[in-house]
Amino acid sequence: MTTLRLVLGDQLNPCHSWFAAPDPDVLHVMMEIREETDYVLHHAQKIIAIFAAMREFARALRSAGHRVHYLAIDGAGNQQSLCANLDALLAQHRVARFEYQAPDEWRLDRRLADYAAGLPIPARMVDSEHFLGARGEAVIATKVNIPPAQRESLSAVELKAAFIRTFEGSLRRLRTDHVEILHIHDISRVEDLGKPGFVEALAELKEQKKARFVGFSTHTNMAACLDAAAASGFFDVVLVAYNYAMQDDAALRRSLEAAAAKGIGLVAMKTQCMQSWYKEGLSADEQTFYEGGIVQTAVLKWALRNDFIACAVPGFTSFRELEEDAAVARDLEYSEAERGFLADRKIKLAMAHCVQCGACRPTCPAGVDTPTLIRAHMYLRYPNVFQAREALAGLAPGKGLDGCVSCAACAARCRGRVDIAKRVGQLKLHFA
Ligand code: SF4
Ligand code: SF4
Repeated sequence: MTTLRLVLGDQLNPCHSWFAAPDPDVLHVMMEIREETDYVLHHAQKIIAIFAAMREFARALRSAGHRVHYLAIDGAGNQQSLCANLDALLAQHRVARFEYQAPDEWRLDRRLADYAAGLPIPARMVDSEHFLGARGEAVIATKVNIPPAQRESLSAVELKAAFIRTFEGSLRRLRTDHVEILHIHDISRVEDLGKPGFVEALAELKEQKKARFVGFSTHTNMAACLDAAAASGFFDVVLVAYNYAMQDDAALRRSLEAAAAKGIGLVAMKTQCMQSWYKEGLSADEQTFYEGGIVQTAVLKWALRNDFIACAVPGFTSFRELEEDAAVARDLEYSEAERGFLADRKIKLAMAHCVQCGACRPTCPAGVDTPTLIRAHMYLRYPNVFQAREALAGLAPGKGLDGCVSCAACAARCRGRVDIAKRVGQLKLHFA
C-alpha cells in the first residue's frame, strides 16, 4: 500500500515531519517540469538554482533511506505537466494514498486541491511546517489596489464591489478568513479618502471582522492625506513613505505627529531610500567608505527612532540586508559609524531619493505624471517588475510613458537630486 507524497521545489525542508524516519511504504515524488518553469518569465539562473537545490535534496533523502522518484526536466517519461506526471506515477506505483504539503502559491494550491478532489483514492493536504509561528501570532496586512484611473470610471456601487472582490481574493490566497490590517493602496488625493465605495467597503469589512484595522497607503501629497485621515476619525492606520531623505520636510513631520496623536498607527515604508542611489554624485573613494551594512541599519534606525512611527516595513534585496533589518529590531541605538554616516552632510545631499513632492510635474512639457514614473522606477530597482508595471498601468492615457515616447530629451527636473531623465530613460528601455 504505497502512499505518494509530492514535494514541491519550494518545500525542501529536511525538518518536516515527513522526513523524520524512512518508511518503505512512502514514495516521495519531486519533478522538474516546463509547466512550472514557463508559466511566467523566470531568470534562467533562478530555475537552475532551484533545480540544483531539488536534486541535492533528493540525494539527501535517498542517503537517509527514503524512497524518492525524481523526474528530471529531460527525464524519460516526464510529461512536463504536474497532473499528467502524477496520474502516471499513481498508476505505475499502484498508489493507495496521495499527500501533498500546503503550497505557498495560490495558483498551485487551487490546482492541487482540484486534482486531489478528483482522485479515486484518499488524498490530503498537510501543513508545510515551514512557518515560524501560528496564524494567531502573526499580524497580516494587505492592500487593495484599484488604480486611480479605474476609480474614476466606477460608480460607488461598482467601486465597493471591486474593492471587496479583490480583498476576498487576497484572503483566499493568504488562506485566512481575516487580516489585521487592510489598506486602500495609493491614496494621493484627499477626496479619494472619502470616496463613496471605498469607505463603505472598509466599514463593511471591519464590521464583518474580516479586517481589524483599516487604512491606506500614501506616497504623494502625504501631509494633506494624513491631515484628512486624522480629521475623519475613520482610519486606524496609514502606511506612509518616510525616511532619512525627508527629514527637512517640516510639514510632513507635523502631519505625522498630529495623526499619531489622534491614535492613527503610522507604518513607515520606503525607509531604506533605495540606498544604492545615495552613491549617485559621490566620488569612488566616498562610495567605498560607505559600502556595507551601515547604510541599511542607519536609515532604518533613523525612521524607527521617531516616536510617531509605530513600526516599519523595510525593504531588502539580499539575505545580508534581511539580517541587518532584523538586527535593528533588537537595538535602536546608533553605533558610532551610523552616527557618522547620518551626520555626513554630503551623504544627506547625495541621497537622490524621490520624496514624491510633485514639484517636477510642471517641468514636464507633456504633462506626464513624473512622480509616479519615478515611483515605478523605484519598484523596478527593487527589483519588482510586476509592481512597476502596475504603477504605470494605473496612469491615465498621456500621463505615463506613452507621453514620453515622442520626447527626444527629457526636460523634467527634480527640485532635489533625482536624475529624472536617467530614470525615465531606464523605464522606457523596459516598458515603452
Ligand atoms: S523627482 Fe524630485 S521633484 Fe519630482 S516628486 Fe520626486 S523629489 Fe519631488
Ligand atoms: S521624457 Fe521627460 S519631459 Fe518628456 S514627456 Fe517624459 S517626463 Fe516629460
